[in-house]
Amino acid sequence: MTVNEIFCPSCRLQQSTSHTFCARCGAALPLELVDERRKSARFFAGVKVLEGDPEQGFLRVTHYRDTERLHGGDTPIEVPSEHVRFSVWVQDQAQCVISLPLSEARELTAFLDSELRRSPDTLTARRI
Ligand SMILES: [Zn+2]
Repeated sequence: MTVNEIFCPSCRLQQSTSHTFCARCGAALPLELVDERRKSARFFAGVKVLEGDPEQGFLRVTHYRDTERLHGGDTPIEVPSEHVRFSVWVQDQAQCVISLPLSEARELTAFLDSELRRSPDTLTARRI
């Protein structure tokens, strides 16, 4: 899957990666996620199901194809290649993360594909 669109982390408006800032709310867009050679990322809008669920939660799924070096702290962090990282975001804060090896990510794909074929759409993420 190619990433030529991006979702605003603040208001979740979908827009082109040619934008640097959100056309609606002006938030900086996470363009570092669209280096397609090294990784692909997508946001999935959450839906509030239970009382304690966040109002504006979303799931970020990133497939790291290549090793990536992150800067910003005192020492650079090296993110290894070939895994899929899931992070749960509320507003612009990551609440928790987990990475799956590709074998587990493929199992997840097969599980969701199999399960969702048997299930009608009942909960739909809010579209802004
Ligand atoms: Zn926005």
